[in-house]
Amino acid sequence: MKIFKFGGASVKDAAGVKNVLQVLQTVGHEDVLLVISAMGKTTNALEIVIKNYFEKSKELYSSIQDIRKYHNQILLDLFEDEEHEVYFDVTAHFDDLEYFVRSNKSPNYSFVYDQIISIGELVSTTIVSHYLNESGITNQWLDVRNFIKTDNTYRDANVNWEQTQKLISKINRKKSLFVTQGFIGADENNFTTTLGREGSDYTAAIFAYCMGAESVTIWKDVPGVLNADPRYFENAVLLNQISYREAIELAFYGASVIHPKTLQPLQKKEIPLYVKSFVNPTLPGTSVSKGADLEPKTSCFIVKKNQILISLSSIDFSFIMEENISEIFGLFHKYKIKVSLIQNSAISFSVCVEDKFEKFNELKTVLSKKFKVSYNENVSLYTIRHFDAASAEVVEKDKNVLVKQISRETLQIVTQQ
Ligand code: ASP
Ligand code: MG
Repeated sequence: MKIFKFGGASVKDAAGVKNVLQVLQTVGHEDVLLVISAMGKTTNALEIVIKNYFEKSKELYSSIQDIRKYHNQILLDLFEDEEHEVYFDVTAHFDDLEYFVRSNKSPNYSFVYDQIISIGELVSTTIVSHYLNESGITNQWLDVRNFIKTDNTYRDANVNWEQTQKLISKINRKKSLFVTQGFIGADENNFTTTLGREGSDYTAAIFAYCMGAESVTIWKDVPGVLNADPRYFENAVLLNQISYREAIELAFYGASVIHPKTLQPLQKKEIPLYVKSFVNPTLPGTSVSKGADLEPKTSCFIVKKNQILISLSSIDFSFIMEENISEIFGLFHKYKIKVSLIQNSAISFSVCVEDKFEKFNELKTVLSKKFKVSYNENVSLYTIRHFDAASAEVVEKDKNVLVKQISRETLQIVTQQ
């Protein structure tokens, strides 16, 4: 079994869906499981629906309507026959969504978020699956919620590996092509959960692990893993081969090409990961596999925008020591704020964090009871793996550097954006 993952950008319009067909025709589709994300920017659009829902906005139904229309145009471009059952299946998913927003009683934000946001993947896979069938590539659509079981940490669910393994093992492998949703799962009550934004790569890794797959391929709009994000750096180069370890480091520091949770399950079973271009599917792209000697010698540049640099100092000039630090980290964990850099001195402690779930204000109030809290919002964190003087110069030039930290392989700086 090979696992292929197609992200939102690869299926953002009818041409994208047709291209998926072409990729499959070019590289083969025997014994393949496709994991597909929501089309284009649908997940962001659904986040607006969620916002409208909670704000009881008049725009609620029109924001849903916008998403229906976007998909309907893709359907019209792909299926001439407007009586084709794909139209009914897609409509049914949107009707479920409207039914949910009309009848839901739960005030739990994260629960509601997952029930709404998951429609994107249900719809995209419905469209792709029908289109492939229609084009002669017979496949079976799987509702991933019957296979990936998680706890009920909505928006950031943890996989129940034992149950997931059991359920995935039951898939009848005689069918040779499967299409399923990335990003989503279900808890023990069968409510929909999600694995965290951009989590479809992780879904591919979960299936690969549980099926003992031969490989995972992530099809991207870039030629593979580059040493820098071309949006922010000039002259990015392709990394042909990297080790799991290097890929984990890059993902940890924020390289957005691979979701950070993806690599551990693959590495455990030594399943190779390929990152390839969906535009040029026959090119080798990047392969991520075992082997320390595969580490790139090339400097790798990673930038994380919209970080917050927080500095805490003790109100009475006492030292910030083990017990304060463990308390502070306990709070970061509680508020789901991800720490990406730490620096401390005797009486102050600085951290660069990412506030994905918009909890910083709450946390700040709690911290202010014990510490003097100062912070800079909207800072950028630059990381260079395998840095040298020249690469450091590229990043530091013309920037207002707030914090700098150097270890053997890695240089990090926090700058005002
Ligand atoms: N559609 C989801 C998101 O945009 C999951 C993914 O794309 O991996 O976050
Ligand atoms: Mg996406």
